[in-house]
Amino acid sequence: MTSLFPHLQAGSNDHRPVARVSVAVERGIDRYPDGLAYALPAALADVVIGERVVVPLGRGNTETVGYVIERQDGPPSSDIPDQAKLKPVLRRDREGTGLPPDLVALARWMASYYCCPVGMALAGVLPAAVKKAVGLVSRTLVDLPLEGDVPTAPTAPPTPAAEGGGGEGGAEGPPRKVRLSPKQRSVLELLRSLPANERPIELRTLAERAHLSTPAPIRGLIAKGLLDARKVTAVEAAWSGEALDAPPPPELTARQAQIVDAIAGTLDQGFSSHLLFGVTGSGKTEVYIRLIERTVAMGRAVIVLVPEIALTPQTGGRLIRRLPQCTVAVLHSGLTAAQRHQQWVLVAAGQAQVVLGARSAAFAPVPEGRLGLIIVDEEHDSSYKQDQAPRYHGRDVALRRAQLSGCPAVLGSATPALESWHNATVRGVHHLHTLPERAPGLRLPKVEIVDFVEEVRARRATAPDRRVHLLGPRLERAIGETLQPRDGSAPGQVLLLLNRRGYANYIACADHTCGWMMQCHHCDATMVCHLDARVRRGAFVRCHHCLSEQRLPEKCPRCARAVTVFGLGTQRVEEELARKFPSLVPGKTMVRVDSDAMHGLRDLHATLHRFGTGELRLLIGTQMIAKGLDFAGVRLVGVVNADTAISLPDFRASERTFQLVSQVAGRCGRGSDPGRAIIQTFNPDLAPIALAARHDYVGFARQELAERERCGLPPVTRMVRFVVRDRDLEACVAAAETLANGLRQIARGLEGGEAVRIHGPAACPIARIAERHRQQVEAIAPTAVQVQRLLAAARDEGIVRPGEGLAVDVDPVGMM
Ligand code: ADP
Ligand code: ZN
Ligand code: ZN
Repeated sequence: MTSLFPHLQAGSNDHRPVARVSVAVERGIDRYPDGLAYALPAALADVVIGERVVVPLGRGNTETVGYVIERQDGPPSSDIPDQAKLKPVLRRDREGTGLPPDLVALARWMASYYCCPVGMALAGVLPAAVKKAVGLVSRTLVDLPLEGDVPTAPTAPPTPAAEGGGGEGGAEGPPRKVRLSPKQRSVLELLRSLPANERPIELRTLAERAHLSTPAPIRGLIAKGLLDARKVTAVEAAWSGEALDAPPPPELTARQAQIVDAIAGTLDQGFSSHLLFGVTGSGKTEVYIRLIERTVAMGRAVIVLVPEIALTPQTGGRLIRRLPQCTVAVLHSGLTAAQRHQQWVLVAAGQAQVVLGARSAAFAPVPEGRLGLIIVDEEHDSSYKQDQAPRYHGRDVALRRAQLSGCPAVLGSATPALESWHNATVRGVHHLHTLPERAPGLRLPKVEIVDFVEEVRARRATAPDRRVHLLGPRLERAIGETLQPRDGSAPGQVLLLLNRRGYANYIACADHTCGWMMQCHHCDATMVCHLDARVRRGAFVRCHHCLSEQRLPEKCPRCARAVTVFGLGTQRVEEELARKFPSLVPGKTMVRVDSDAMHGLRDLHATLHRFGTGELRLLIGTQMIAKGLDFAGVRLVGVVNADTAISLPDFRASERTFQLVSQVAGRCGRGSDPGRAIIQTFNPDLAPIALAARHDYVGFARQELAERERCGLPPVTRMVRFVVRDRDLEACVAAAETLANGLRQIARGLEGGEAVRIHGPAACPIARIAERHRQQVEAIAPTAVQVQRLLAAARDEGIVRPGEGLAVDVDPVGMM
């Protein structure tokens, strides 16, 4: 075939546009709802949705990487002005970084639902480690060719060409007579002398053993066909676990079996969603395991999400041990970037049947059509919500993913989020499955509510001293009794919870009439006193919002009198424990578990391991210790103060308190002994505390939902929270007012818009963080669809531009 335009003939440089593509670049460019349009040249005709490509961006045509999120075949029409001047896609990015189409669809949904640029949503989907190819060290294994004769030993002296000519040759095929350098000959000899079990050998190892300074001679041999080479990328196991024996699987109770069958019956029926509501220790994990087995048996993969903090070797180890036939990929923040990358590649290659991870594992690149089930454990946990853009909720993304991939999703919890409970019991969105009792042999712990006012009185009466006691007499006695039982039974272990880090959270003038209290210079918040042996006077002061630090002042800056510290903190409890119980030695038999004391997940894992072996007798910590732990030796759980959340200006304060008390209490009685939970509180009669003590979730949910209904709050309604930030207070208030007015106007124009309420602007509970003033506006609508319409219109009209100065939080979890 001849062509009039030979220069336009198909070939590797064919620039004819054959399709239009929409490309989302990973910048904060908010082009709602789509990416940027480009022409796809014929040479790249086979580019598919989800691939990463390089495109020219902006006036300077800066080469930028982006994802193809849409494709329309056919040449762009030169009649349409916008299409005539489309710039071309330049080339593909590195291989192996593309996303399956269902993940592209998921990211697009996120961009629209959570109101963020699609490029940003995509950036959240692909881990940075994968993008940057961190740790992609493919090792080269070399060996003698299987058959084929050993070449005649060359006699001619080596030439420089033979020495260094690695890599480029190889096109001629293995020649009979080749020139080899002495180095190459010694390599071959060495290889021949290796025992069979040492071959193939890694190229670098071979070079070392042959005393070569560079691998070039070996590469030369490969190029000549005298050595076989193959590349492998090894996947490091996330936990180099000791080979542990799996405990024999327990026989399911009738109830468990029924639930497994009911959910398994939906496995190949497309999307469905299930809420597994089961008290702590009721065997939910056992249900997950059976469902995973069934899904894997159908040749499909499972994603299991757990809260980051619960991603302990314990959870992982249990799954891995019980599923010896499966490859389990693990994604968590304790992995190195290289490990993350390896795990991702493993999943993308379809080699992992199970993916276990924190919220971002909802984006695990299970190949299209292979995902069979998603499990979200402890679905109520607030750590599923990402607190920076894209502000997505892992549970809700998981539900959406299941919908897009056409598979069931199972949400499990002992204290379901009211959102999920409402969806299951009122809206009928989720199928509800209930495990009302603990697994055979386990009993729920006895929960004792202790009125702290009474405790203080009792202490004054018996042993009057002027010290502050954060442990009341009852909890103190119980700790002593558990660590060293008087009846001679085996000592138990103790978990103590206090949701406040540091030593004390108020620093003030000792003189009440002065009234000075230490505030952060950069935030509208009090400073927290931390003990640290490395600083002068043994303490410093930190702001928990901007992390700025100062010395603990020696005297009141206002009146020069003494300064006192008061309030609660895990450090102070630790100090008190060490004083009261000589057997508790910080760092040896007792460890504090909070984000100050633990340096990353690895540290936490190591500590939990020491607790598991019994070396540590007591852990004092923040909510880090309230989640998903399962230690048979724990006989006592104490909550030092159950009121830390109750007075926060957050409509979920009651729900959080209920969850905390229930979850903590659920940490004991995992062994044969039911265990004891002691909850100290100034509000013993408060519903969330009293109902949690009675393990009455249903009663609590009923009461709390009625209250939310009365106030028109989620989950009965839907909410978006906008936070406007500015260094200048007036500018901040003005921008927030413009936003609120704009939203009101849009709401008026919406169908059913009269039911949309716009609150604010008002100062956020923490009105300034790191020098930035913060004003909030809330939009509340009866349905999610109305919220989405409001947001879409506001973005279209430029009223809402998420970025530095404006955070948009859809379905907010934190209200501070
Ligand atoms: P949950 O996930 O609801 O907290 P788990 O699945 O961890 O509960 O179960 C708690 C304990 O009870 C585990 O040690 C588990 O092996 C055991 N268990 C679960 N189901 C059964 C059963 N049917 N029979 C006996 N033990 C069980
Ligand atoms: Zn601060
Ligand atoms: Zn003073």
